[in-house]
Amino acid sequence: MSTMVDIATRSRRAETIQGKAVRLIASGCLWIERIDPDLGITALVRGDSGVRWVVTYEAGAWSCTCPAFVRRCSHVRAVALVTERTPS
Ligand SMILES: [Zn+2]
Repeated sequence: MSTMVDIATRSRRAETIQGKAVRLIASGCLWIERIDPDLGITALVRGDSGVRWVVTYEAGAWSCTCPAFVRRCSHVRAVALVTERTPS
């Protein structure tokens, strides 16, 4: 059962990922290398550390080479925001 603290923590984290993703897009840190209906998406995202992470979308699944990637990091979110018809 979720407590109010759990819910608040989750929503704050979600806002942070969304906010960082928007900042990455706005600061020109995102390059789409490939976007193809069959082959999927490959993109580079320069993180705050200056490292360029590789974000891919293949066979319905997102992934990112950054250490923070579990399900969706800010890099995946940034690429999804500019490529998905309905961002989730
Ligand atoms: Zn990432």
